[in-house]
Formats: sequence, structure tokens, C-alpha cells
Amino acid sequence: MTTRSRTVRGAHRPDDQVDGRHDVPADETSGAQAVVPSAGARGADSAGTVTGDGSPGPVIRPKVTAVVRPAERAPASWGLGDGQAIPWEYAPAPESREVVTIRERYGLFINGREVQAVSGETFADVNPATEEILTHVARGGPQDVDLAVRAARTAFRRRWGALPGRERAKYLFRIARLLQERSREFAVLETMDTGKPIRESRDVDIPLAAAHFWYYAGWADKLEYAFPGRVARPLGVAAQVIPWNFPLLMLAWKIAPALAAGNTVVLKPASTTPLSALLFADVCRQADLPPGVVNIVPGPGSMGEALICHPGVDKVAFTGSTEIGKGIARGIAGTDKVLTLELGGKAANIVFDDAPLDQAIEGIVNGIYFNQGEVCCAGSRLLVQESIADELVDRLKDRLATIRVGDPMDKNTDLGAINSKAQLEKITELVAAGQAEGATLYQPACDLPDRGWFFRPTLFTNVAQSHRIAREEIFGPVLSVLTFRTPDEAVEKANNTPYGLSAGIWTDKGSRILWMTRRMRAGVVWANTFNRFDPTSPFGGYKESGYGREGGMQGLHAYVRLEDPA
Ligand code: NDP
Repeated sequence: MTTRSRTVRGAHRPDDQVDGRHDVPADETSGAQAVVPSAGARGADSAGTVTGDGSPGPVIRPKVTAVVRPAERAPASWGLGDGQAIPWEYAPAPESREVVTIRERYGLFINGREVQAVSGETFADVNPATEEILTHVARGGPQDVDLAVRAARTAFRRRWGALPGRERAKYLFRIARLLQERSREFAVLETMDTGKPIRESRDVDIPLAAAHFWYYAGWADKLEYAFPGRVARPLGVAAQVIPWNFPLLMLAWKIAPALAAGNTVVLKPASTTPLSALLFADVCRQADLPPGVVNIVPGPGSMGEALICHPGVDKVAFTGSTEIGKGIARGIAGTDKVLTLELGGKAANIVFDDAPLDQAIEGIVNGIYFNQGEVCCAGSRLLVQESIADELVDRLKDRLATIRVGDPMDKNTDLGAINSKAQLEKITELVAAGQAEGATLYQPACDLPDRGWFFRPTLFTNVAQSHRIAREEIFGPVLSVLTFRTPDEAVEKANNTPYGLSAGIWTDKGSRILWMTRRMRAGVVWANTFNRFDPTSPFGGYKESGYGREGGMQGLHAYVRLEDPA
């Protein structure tokens, strides 16, 4: 595929001034880096803080270059007059932590019981917003994996695999109800463990996780309708490896269809976010789920590898980075394990000149700054029709200035903490690369908390398709703006990526939406919205974004073997 344009036409020059703000001249921005104390260790009190890998140390950050508007100033679009102070301030609205009891230690959940790792080892689990150690969790290893897979196999043979669908459904309905009943507890725990704003864990992650259990509970006794004329048999033991960006939701995406179809499960949560999976173990006990049907084994990536390669595993489901996904595909090649991979993305969010701009701005913000941009389907490449690019970027900058960055436990926070020091370093490195390659950085002025791993909402203009920030998955609150002139050029640029997970289109014309959708190589295409999820809707990728679908009837397909009726 050819690249038609390497520069952003009509984008802001570095010396543009908007509402009295000043973008910093290019010679101060390009490649400029400063060593500053780690995000969580700014100031002199860094001694004693704990970093994600257990070692303190500075994060190399790009110099904050675009000090453009004090956050307390109203955007011009509010009509208060240029540079007027915002006439109100939000009062702190912290969610209470009282609803959650975090124990000092957690074990593995194998065969319905909490057990310590065979090695006796543990690892520290850290709150990314404060850098406090929340708890210590048993570090699973290959021997624990073996115990968990055997427990899952026994549960499959003796009980779950032969249980009628209507009986399996009862357990799933029970789990869904318990998730709803304990939703506040889950939301607070998830926010403390991930750094995501409580508003999002409360309103998105937990309700959607429960919705997946409701949805697949409904399918458990109706598999013959999902696959008419075929007999759907469970595969057996499913090994499921999930990432840290939506821990409980990814667990639900994987466990709910697996159980509905009659499989048993061994799940490995990410090392930085094991707590909601371990609380889910408690829900399984509360729901009287037979022992061994769900096993949860936290541990390092090497343990994940041991799990997927275990000969007792029939099905592997992985969500995470493309690099690890490729390794998994290689690792189980030649076996009869069924594999689904949900990997990275570099989605294009395409705005045409007839789009409702106010809605589009909200969609762009939701597309890239939701969950700190740590979303595989994030709309990280904004493609704007050239004729409206200047106006849209101006309005987007205004909107960015209103994003509230800070304590994830505050109900008013829009952008919480980055999940780990390693992820913050990755974002920081890619943003520095964007500057070094000549893109123009914009960040609203906003104070970051003294501790924790935070990153400002970031916008790049003057982006070329060859820039790393336009090609690589950043997995952070960083938006790259490019322009296009015609629908053909938009399609070509949108598809000019090794990924193919998602895309967004903003336009008034239904026919254009259909025309674009047919041409875009993306598993999900949102029209005049972004980052909408529903358990009834399949989700998955093309190309290096993986294969197989999760959600909807298609999500069941990944957990069954279809046979002809006898
Ligand atoms: P990984 O792909 O390394 O981690 C995802 C999960 O896989 C975690 O549970 C991890 O365990 C586990 N894992 C790691 N190595 C192996 C292995 N060899 N075999 C089996 N499982 C393994 O993602 P990272 O957390 O390292 O994030 C790196 C980048 O990946 C991010 O910056 C982002 O770009 C992308 N990413 C994409 C996600 C998506 O949803 N598509 C989700 C997360 C990240 P552990 O946590 O113990 O390392």
C-alpha cells in the first residue's frame, strides 16, 4: 500500500497561538528530553516508594513542552470570554475504600480452594496511583499449572462437561447476580489495582462483566439454536491468559462463554492486576460452582507459557500484545489445541466534514483517553478531513484542557494512573520519538499527583504515516492527528497498519458509513460512536490484531467442537 501524504496538511504550525496559548517552538520540542523524577517519585520524597518492578528509579520523560492554558481557564467554546477563569471548581469526591478488604496475602485458586504456590514464592501487587504495596500474591509456577490443569480436567470429566445446559446456566446466572450485588466492591478493587478511574470501573468494567455472564447464561441451554443442525460439544480444558487493562472484563469475556459451552478453565491474570480475578474466585465459591471448574493461577509470563503449552489443555484464549500472541501461536503449532488471539490495535477514528463536530469531539476523547488509552481498540489515529482539520484540532485542544487527570478514586477523575512503571516508560519513550521525528506535541497544562504513574492527555499534529506514533501501539493517552481529502484516501490510510482491530467513522451520511465499512480491514467499525461494547456483539481482529471472536454467538463458537448429529 502506498502512502499518499507524509505530512499533515492544514495542521497547526508549531508557532500557532490559540487563545493566548503558545505551542513551544520546534527547536525546543524536537527530541527534547529531561530526566525528571519518576511520575510517582516527583519531588524529594521519592525515597522508599515502590516501583512496578520493585526497584526505584527515574522515568525519562519528554520535556513538557506545550504549556498552553492553565486548566482553570475556560475554553473559548464555552462562550465565557477569552481566557476567563472557569467559574466553579469540582469538590473532591473520593470513593470510599471501606467497601473492600484487601488481605495481606493471597493464594492461588485451584480445585475450589485457596492454596499457596508449590514454590512458596509471592510477588507484590502495587497500586499504580499511589505506588503503595496493596498485598502479596502467590507466584504460580509450572507445578501449580499442572495441579490446576488436572483439577480442571477432573472437573470436566466428572461433572461440568456432562452437566445439562440448563444446570450450567443456573451457575452462570448466579455468578452474574453476585457480580451485580458486589459491584461496588469489585469497582473499588479494580480501580485500586489498575489505576483506572472509579467512574469507569463502576460504570463500564463491572456492569459489562456481569452482562457477559447474563448473556452467556442465556445461551447455555440453547446451543442447538446457536448452531442449528449441528451438535456442539465442549472442547475440554481452556487455558486463558488475560492482560491488565480490563482485568475483570477480560475474565468475563473468557470465562462466561467457556463455562456456558461446558468447558472448564484455568485462568492466568496479568501480574500487575490479579486482585479482581482472586475476588472472582470468592464469587465462584459463593455460587457453589463445583471445584475445579474455574481455577485462577497468578504468576509471571513464563507461567503463562507453561499453561498454554500444557498437554492437558484443549483450548487457548489469549488477550495481550501481538509479540506474545505470535509466540503463543508458534508454541502450540502442530498440536490440536484451538486458539483465539485478541492482540493489539492502531485504530483509525475518521471524521468527515459533514460530521456533527461536538459529538465527534466527545467520540475522539472517549476513543483515546478512555482507560488512559490503555485499550487495544483505542482510536489512536485521528484521520480528519482536511477542510475541517484546523477547527477540529482547535476544539479538541479546548476539550483536552477540561480533562481531569488525577486520583482514580475521585468520581470526577477522567484520566487515572498508567498501570505500571514499565508502561509509563513505554509511553514516554514513544512520545519522545514522536517529538524527535518532527511531530508537534500538545499537552494541556495540568498538575499531576505527587505519587503514582500518570501521563498527561497528549495530542500530536504534523504527524506523518511513517512516524512511530502513527504505526506502533502506544497503549497510552496519546492521539496522533493525520488528515485526508477523499474517502478513498481515508480508507487507504486507515488500512495502512499491520493491525486490524477497530475503526470509527463520523459522518452524517449512512451510505458513506456502509461504503467505508466494506472497505476497512477492521474487526469492529463504530459509526458515530466509539468504544461501545455489548456482550451480544462479536469482537476481534484482522491481520496482526489476532483471530477468533469474543462476544455474541461467535464467542461461543470458539469454545465448541461442532459435530454432525449421530
Ligand atoms: P503481554 O502481552 O506481555 O501480557 C499479557 C498477558 O500475557 C499477561 O497476563 C502476561 O503475564 C502474559 N504473558 C506474558 N508473557 C507470556 C508468555 N510468554 N506466554 C503466555 N503469557 C504471557 O502485555 P504487556 O503487559 O507486556 O504489555 C505490553 C504491550 O502489549 C502494551 O504496551 C500494549 O501495547 C500491548 N497490550 C495489548 C493488550 C490488548 O488488549 N491487546 C493488553 C495488554 C497489553 P504477566 O502480566 O505476568 O507478564
